[in-house]
Amino acid sequence: MSSNDKNITWHHSGVSREARQSAFGHKGATIWLTGLSGSGKSTIAVELEKVLFQKGIKAYILDGDNIRFGLNKDLGFSASDRTENIRRISEVCRLFADANIVCIACFISPYVADRDQARAIHVESGLDFVEVFVDSSIEVAESRDPKGLYQKARQGLIKEFTGISAPYEEPVKPEIHLDTGDLAVNESVDNIVEYLTLKKII
Ligand code: ADP
Repeated sequence: MSSNDKNITWHHSGVSREARQSAFGHKGATIWLTGLSGSGKSTIAVELEKVLFQKGIKAYILDGDNIRFGLNKDLGFSASDRTENIRRISEVCRLFADANIVCIACFISPYVADRDQARAIHVESGLDFVEVFVDSSIEVAESRDPKGLYQKARQGLIKEFTGISAPYEEPVKPEIHLDTGDLAVNESVDNIVEYLTLKKII
């Protein structure tokens, strides 16, 4: 890849993907958890990371709030900022997956088009992208309200809050669909590990 007008050129690594996979004993991939605030993305991600780590698999969480403290601290919650948030994160996930890490991304990522773009960025690099719909009804998510955000949103203190005053577009064909109103955290984690094993990612 090169761009004459910008004078930039893509530099290739001297370490092949196969060499990395063979050294690590597994593939890199992005596990993309999407769902409402309070649906359980972070809780599932933390348990999943622990389980994978105990299996000797190199895994790392990228979490929505954490990224907004640093890389994306210049972005808000308007539709265009959310899109840019997800675009940057998708590129970071691709780098992690290319480095042969199992990257666990937990972002509300409410728009189908943004998640499709995240998938496309991975697919064009020959990397696995596993979309996980962390599904709970708005009622269940709101009753959990782990950060008190729903209460603030209902009081009008947070504008453009997903599920209340901003849309959430459900995944059309996610690789994994978890109903967290029904599944215990460890059952959700088992579902993901089973899928990764079946697809020979780990
Ligand atoms: P998100 O990252 O999607 O905003 P969090 O993981 O921060 O959601 O919050 C989900 C809350 O719901 C946590 O307090 C978690 O302990 C609780 N919870 C209760 N039951 C479940 C379940 N079955 N799966 C996931 N989380 C659950």
